[in-house]
Parts: sequence; structure tokens; C-alpha cells
Amino acid sequence: MTTYDAIVIGSGITGGWAAKELTEKGLETLVIERGRNVEHRKDYITEHKPNWQFPLRNARLGVGTQSAREYPIQARTGQFHESVKHFFIKDHRNPYVEDKPFTWIQGDQVGGKSLIWGRQVYRWSNLDFEANLRDGHGVDWPIRYADLAPWYSYVERFIGVSGEHLGLAHLPDGEFQPPMEMNAGEKFVKAGLERAFPGRRLTIGRVAILTQAVNGRLPCHYCGPCERGCSTGSYFSSQSSTLPAARATGRLTIVPDSVVHSLIYDAAKNRVTGVRVVDTTTKQTRDYSARLIFLCASTLATTRVLLTSKSPRFPDGLANSSGALGRYLMDHHFVVGANGAIEGLLDRYYQGNRPNGIYIPRFRNLGDDASRRGDYVRGFGYQGGASRQGWTRGGSEAGFGVELKRKLHDPGRWTMGLTGFGECLPRADNQVQLADQTDEFGIPLLRIHCTWGENELAMRKDMAASAAEMLEAAGCQEVQTRDAYKEGELGAEPGLGIHEMGTARMGRDPRTSVLNAHNQAHDVPNLFVTDGACMASSSCVNPSITYMALTARACDYAVGELKRGNL
Ligand SMILES: Cc1cc2nc3c(=O)[nH]c(=O)nc-3n(C[C@H](O)[C@H](O)[C@H](O)COP(=O)(O)OP(=O)(O)OC[C@H]3O[C@@H](n4cnc5c(N)ncnc54)[C@H](O)[C@@H]3O)c2cc1C
Ligand code: SF4
Repeated sequence: MTTYDAIVIGSGITGGWAAKELTEKGLETLVIERGRNVEHRKDYITEHKPNWQFPLRNARLGVGTQSAREYPIQARTGQFHESVKHFFIKDHRNPYVEDKPFTWIQGDQVGGKSLIWGRQVYRWSNLDFEANLRDGHGVDWPIRYADLAPWYSYVERFIGVSGEHLGLAHLPDGEFQPPMEMNAGEKFVKAGLERAFPGRRLTIGRVAILTQAVNGRLPCHYCGPCERGCSTGSYFSSQSSTLPAARATGRLTIVPDSVVHSLIYDAAKNRVTGVRVVDTTTKQTRDYSARLIFLCASTLATTRVLLTSKSPRFPDGLANSSGALGRYLMDHHFVVGANGAIEGLLDRYYQGNRPNGIYIPRFRNLGDDASRRGDYVRGFGYQGGASRQGWTRGGSEAGFGVELKRKLHDPGRWTMGLTGFGECLPRADNQVQLADQTDEFGIPLLRIHCTWGENELAMRKDMAASAAEMLEAAGCQEVQTRDAYKEGELGAEPGLGIHEMGTARMGRDPRTSVLNAHNQAHDVPNLFVTDGACMASSSCVNPSITYMALTARACDYAVGELKRGNL
């Protein structure tokens, strides 16, 4: 058996960070990844391919289409296009059982979902870290914003985040590079909205895309299709950022095509001593050992490994003396908001394809009377943007022949859309368990049970109504609300937000939580979980930068403990 100082399971956003931090702190580190290797630049096989060179012109591949037949789950997200399908898992490689619709989007390759993520990054605040304590849903977070603030800064400086300082306590500013510019339509809506609602702000998205060079990575040149990979390294991915840093130490080993089956636990020492891996090509098993294990396989995959790792001491899954493992699954609920048209500004356009939109920070339930809602707790923010209609509008416009063609040479009018992302409460009955079936590697499948509750459904009504109210107040025309949620159907089901989190939550009390304030398992000191599984609540902002900050902080603590002889 090969032995390392540390093993990191998963090479996506959190695994890449763990690899960088642990190797830079002197540990010989093995990263185990279930997917294939993806080499920066060389393997971005569609990066510069024009849409017209794809057989279906880079169409979205929908559920039930011939092109998506191996991806019946992945095809549920609107991000699943012809040009990027090789960065999504073929669903038969990792099936699961869904009691009610739950969409599990996965990127099984070196780099994980860091290659295809949307790159929106917002710090959490004490409004989030104190939320459970304040309204009694879930357990209190064992940390506060002050614990994580220096780690957010540390992460932001390394990954590069462009954005605007707003001075809002509930959406803390960070170490920002210069913001991208809003277009004319967005500036129009911003002016009207902030005039009509003095407490609300509309800002350019805070995004892990460079506007200034960092560590040999170049500023973004606005080509647009980031999800195909970026040879200039302008957006943060494991490939562009963390894995090269880890590799530069000379202490990194990555084994792709190797799925972790379970962790090996030594009851006499009360330590995990290694991992059992199945080679995804040969189906042979092999073991690796280490003094420290970081689980970074993404929320549900991580919890699956823990649930599968049963022993007489932990018959219900490793580090699960609390019984909380698998419970309190959350995601952001979205696909709800409003759209409107903007009259005029027809002499204004934009250059290039800015890979970013706008953001409207949360303005509900901020702790003061003015923002308090009686019908739900927590809150939501909006992402969106303005653009001018293109020639495809011809499909729904009246007219024909030369006259219509001539008209379509020019851009159409401006439209503006707002889509809400809402916080989801941690509920014990939203949970994952092991199913009776196993996959092709002999690993038990996950059974996922997750639904939106009354709080989320009440919030959605406000998300649609407030979006319309703001667009109208800003001067937009023909404003229409939309909400894709239908109970038991696809469209706005849990999981579709791709911000799944919880199921191995942090907490102060080992009787009710799996991890302590340093992402260390209460039950097993040399086991750390730093992906979304650790989350005790969900906030309404995109979560990945919080996972990164928690990972860097946990690595610092773990290496300290190792050196102090406590692990
Ligand atoms: C289209 C899209 C847009 C998104 N937009 C945003 C956004 O704007 N902002 C934001 O904050 N988040 C966004 N996300 C979510 C973000 O991608 C995830 O939160 C983030 O990638 C989670 O990091 P992770 O390391 O936990 O998981 P991943 O990045 O998914 O990495 C996990 C890795 O572990 C591997 N793995 C899994 N199981 C095993 C096993 N048993 N053995 C070995 N390896 C294993 C996987 O193959 C994968 O490579 C988006 C996601 C998608 C898909
Ligand atoms: S838009 Fe910017 S970040 Fe995205 S692929 Fe192009 S250069 Fe890279």
C-alpha cells in the first residue's frame, strides 16, 4: 500500500484548494479523482470552435433528445450544450434514486465542476452565520464572519475576483480587482431602481474572472464561452490556479480514473488510516494510506463515501454518531423572477461577450423592521442582465421576405431579466441515504429525498413580485413574471440550482452535527470535510467561495494539529 502524508478526495473547487494548501505546507499529498484527466489548454477541445461547426450549432441538449441520451439528468440544466457535454458526467456512471425530482449535476473529471461553474462569488456575512440561531431553523454555526473574513481575503487574492465595493454589512466587500462595466440597459435599470428603492442596489456581478493579470493568468478578453475552458486562465478553475500551485511544490500526486469506495477506519486508534479505491477502467480495487484525509468530492458524493464507510463503531456511516449525516440537504431555489423591455437606447450596444451579469443583493429580513416579512424567513438576491435582441427574434416577429431580413440585420430592442436565488431552510427530512442497489463499481447508490418547503414557496411569490415591481419602477415596459416551479415536476426542482449543500453539517454539539468549527469530524480527528456537505445553512448567495475559504482555513488548522502531534 502506498502511503502519503495526506489524501484529498476530489480535484474540483475544494479538492484543488486542499491540494494547494496541504502541499504548500509541506505535506506529500495524493489527490484521488474518479474522472479522467483534463489538461489545462490541451483538453479544452471545443474552446475556439465556432458554433456553426457543431452538428447542432451548439444547441442546448434537452432531456429526451437523442444527443443527450447518455445524460438524462445532466440535460435538465440549461447549461448542458453540445460544446460542453464532455465536462458533464454520463449518468449511467453514477446513477441515483430520486424519490421526488432532484437534479444532481456532476462534472467527473480532474477539475470537477470548476471547469463549468458560473464563477459568481459573494462573501457570506453574519446575517447568514447567525441565521439559524436567530430563527431557530437548523443548528447554530460554530463560526462567525470574523473567523472566515481573513480566509476570504486570502482566497480572493489568489483566485482573482473582480467586483464593486458597496459597503453593505450583509454582503461584505472583498479584495476586488476593478469591476467589469455594466451595459447601457443595465445602467438604465440601475438608475431607476435605486431611485425608486433607496435601500436597494444593483451592481455588476462579483466574479472569479480577472480584469488584471495574476500569477501568469491573463485578464479576460470577453470571448464568452468560459464553460469550454480558458487557455488564458482568466477564470478560476483547478486547472488554471490551484493544481499548478500544488504541482509546483513537487509534493503533489494525482490519480484520475479512481473512484473512492470507502474510507478505512481503525477503531483502536480512532483514526481513518486510508481509502479504498476502485479503478474505473479495470474495476480493480487498491488501497492508499495517509495520516490525514480531506473529503472534497462535492456535497453528495462526500456524504455517500461516509455513509458507505460502515464499521462496528459506526454502523450508520463513518463519523455519524450524531445521526445527522445525510440530513439537512439544501440548494438554492431559483428559475423565478421577471423580464421587461427597455424603450430607446437604440444607439447603444456592447462590445464582446462579457462573461458576467448583474447582481441585486438581498433586501428582505435584514434584521430591521422595514425589511421584515411576515410570510417567510431569510431572503434572496437576483442575478440577471440586459441585452439587445439578436436576429433570432425573427422567429416570433411579424413580417417576411427582404423587409424582415433587412430589419434583422440590426440588433433589436433592449430587454432586462432578473432571476432570484433564494435561501433554503435546513430540514431534517431533506436527506440522502444509501439505496439497496449498487453501481458498476460496487458502491451503493444514493437515494435522495428533497422538496421545497412552505418557506421557500412563500419566498418565491415575493421573488417574482419584487422583480416585476423593480423593473416597472425602473421604467421597463411589458414586464412579466415567471416561476418554473411545479410540484413534483422538472423546471425548478431542488438540485437544479447546482448549489447542493448540507448532509454533514458543522456545529458546536457532537450530538447534533458531524463537523466542528474547523471542518474536522467530531468523531474522527484526522478526517476533514470541506466541500458543501459541511454547510449548516444555505444563505442566498453562491456558495463556492465560502467552501474555498473554509477549505483553506481547515488545511491551516489540520496541518497545525498534525505538527502538534494531535492527529
Ligand atoms: C453550470 C454551473 C454553474 C455554477 N455556478 C456557480 C457560481 O456561479 N458560483 C458558485 O459559487 N458556484 C457555482 N456552481 C457550483 C460549483 O460548481 C460547486 O459549488 C463547486 O464546484 C463545488 O466544489 P467541490 O469541490 O465540492 O465539487 P466539484 O467541483 O464538483 O469537485 C468534486 C470532484 O470530486 C470527484 N469525485 C466525486 N466522487 C468521488 C469519489 N468517490 N472518488 C473520487 N473522486 C470523486 C468528482 O469527479 C469531482 O471532480 C455552479 C455549478 C455548475 C455546474
Ligand atoms: S470570457 Fe474571459 S474568462 Fe471566459 S473563456 Fe473568454 S477570456 Fe476566459
